Amino acid sequence: MNISLPKVLILSLLGFLLLSLIGAQAQDSYTITVEDVSDRKVRVEATLYPKNDTLLMSPYGATNLKDGCATFVKNVSAKTSSGEQIGISQLDNGVFVLDNASKSKKVHLSYIVNMQHEKQKWPFGYKEAAYVNNEMLMATGNALFITRLDVDSATINFKLKKPYKVANAWKQTAPASYVAKGAEELVWTVLAIGNFNLSEIQTGKTKILLAYSNELSPSKKLVESTIRKAVKKYESIYGGSPSRQPSAPDKYLYVMNVDSSYVGGGAAFTNSISILLNAAPAHTKKAGTTSWHHILVHEIGHLWNGRSLKTGESTEWFNEGFTDYLAYRVEHELGLFNKSEWEEMLSQKQAEYNKAREKNKVTLAAAGKDKGHNYDIIYSGGLFLAHKLNTEIKKATKTKKDLSDFMQNMYAAFSSKDKPIGNKDIKLIAEQACSCNLDNLFLEVTDQKLSNKIE
Ligand SMILES: [Zn+2]
Repeated sequence: MNISLPKVLILSLLGFLLLSLIGAQAQDSYTITVEDVSDRKVRVEATLYPKNDTLLMSPYGATNLKDGCATFVKNVSAKTSSGEQIGISQLDNGVFVLDNASKSKKVHLSYIVNMQHEKQKWPFGYKEAAYVNNEMLMATGNALFITRLDVDSATINFKLKKPYKVANAWKQTAPASYVAKGAEELVWTVLAIGNFNLSEIQTGKTKILLAYSNELSPSKKLVESTIRKAVKKYESIYGGSPSRQPSAPDKYLYVMNVDSSYVGGGAAFTNSISILLNAAPAHTKKAGTTSWHHILVHEIGHLWNGRSLKTGESTEWFNEGFTDYLAYRVEHELGLFNKSEWEEMLSQKQAEYNKAREKNKVTLAAAGKDKGHNYDIIYSGGLFLAHKLNTEIKKATKTKKDLSDFMQNMYAAFSSKDKPIGNKDIKLIAEQACSCNLDNLFLEVTDQKLSNKIE
């Protein structure tokens, strides 16, 4: 029998719809259950569609542990849709292998994460791992998720005891459901769960959620207004809001807490930041690397440089050093840092850089291979190069331009690109900003003459 055209169309449409429905269902999903923050247990149930037999916990940030973040995971169990047990074995570095994975494409996984992360020694402090305090459980995505690198997107649902809430940087799709696009957004993030304080700070198009414990409540207004003013300052330095991508996030999350036994520091993740202060802002006025406003303003700066402007190992000095220089400048302009402290800071950074460079004998570009070992070359050396470039641009343009013109040009040229910025790119834009030759200045970066070509 001849099938008429409309019928063919209807059938293909039905087929397409069916495929879309199957496709729509085939999205990894997780349910995170927290009954009591103080018992440090997170129950995770997941429905996954792995393409092969291997699942893993992201090794980033946990390479100091043989089993990575899986060190804190127990009772891992895998089942088919019909409830049959699937064997699952754990290898080193947080890798899990499923038995007979090809027989069952859909896997129900369940496990417990024992939140004891801060009791370990972390290379850059436990603020980059996970921790628990009286009001919240601060988790990183890599502490929670057994996943796969090729995940397109994942749904994360929360089942929390009342009056607990969750604050995270993912796109919200329902009251307790969120979607993370891709593995990086899923695992390279921080989130807070518990009965903590939450402020929403809107500056122009930029919305920042600030999650903090009671110890910071007396400083709420000071912290909020510093964030708001710093965002405005950075917007004028870079000439725009933190993301120019069409898929710009609708919010950023800052999780901020105090631990007097920790030196203080911050870490930038995808659309989220973890900040751990040594003392509440109300109790300290000291300016410097570990002061509350420097940690905060530095990490805000990474929303532009580090996230929108993507750097690699060889341009880590630009990411950290220029972010640090601009953070001090913003603080100075906000009156958080006076002129003599500014001068003192510059000579201290120069001394740190000279000492480290003499000892380690690596250039700024080569220092990024080992961030921990070359810390002062990257941070203080990068900062000092930003200061020198600022001076060069001002001198060459008779103070008509300065470093912010250069940052604006960098941001306009590279903020929507996925490829990390190269040293040649930085030199070219710097020379455009000053209309001058910067061969000598950039010898500090690579020890070699850089050609004037965008990489
Ligand atoms: Zn930084």
